[in-house]
Amino acid sequence: MCVALIVAAGSGERLGAGRPKAFVDLAGRPMLAWSIDALARLADIERIVIALPAGAQPPPGMAGGKQVLGVEGGATRSESVRLALAAAGEPDQLVLVHDAARALLTPAIARQTIDALRADPDADGAIAAMPVTDTIKRVDGHGAVRETLERSELWAVQTPQVFRRAALERALDVPTHELARATDDAWLVERAGGRVIVVRASAENLKVTSPLDLRVAELLLRDRGDPKS
Ligand code: C5P
Repeated sequence: MCVALIVAAGSGERLGAGRPKAFVDLAGRPMLAWSIDALARLADIERIVIALPAGAQPPPGMAGGKQVLGVEGGATRSESVRLALAAAGEPDQLVLVHDAARALLTPAIARQTIDALRADPDADGAIAAMPVTDTIKRVDGHGAVRETLERSELWAVQTPQVFRRAALERALDVPTHELARATDDAWLVERAGGRVIVVRASAENLKVTSPLDLRVAELLLRDRGDPKS
């Protein structure tokens, strides 16, 4: 079985909404509610643990028949993952990690990511991602281009990211300053020697960071015609 961790403890300063991003209104509901709903629809997921900002209202105890727990998040994203995993209980073989900021997650993407890991016994993790369409250059601190990267090899990484529990626990067992460097969990698993595979997701699985992203997300959710939007 699989436990889902949703990290929602960020401040969301770049959104400028004056409250934690996960609680900003998105198409009539707090942003976090969309991810809880999508994950609660998966038969594979047994329970959901959410890393929340200090003092946030606890989540509903159940969603779609699944247990939903809240824990206080940490100072960095990876610390929030570690704290949520510690609260997750023992039996799960797989751990799915998802950013609350990706509120357009569909159950299909989450299922495909879980299935990809199950189908590859040599993999420690499977991550949602998309090939990049922009040309990516490495630029120095003075604004000068140093290198143009080979685009055909580049993927932009999203969440959900699904891991074998032991591999993720090992990867997270590093000093706090190493956790602070990680912008995703897969990097920690990779640097611990793990094998991670990408699963082609969707550009719609966007991360809400700026007010523009919020507007786009709102339009896409309304287009989907979800009864709750
Ligand atoms: O800051 P960033 O956009 O990378 O955050 C990605 C996700 O990690 C967000 O959903 C945010 O709420 C979460 N996060 C967290 N704890 C932190 C920082 C970020 O749960 N200390």
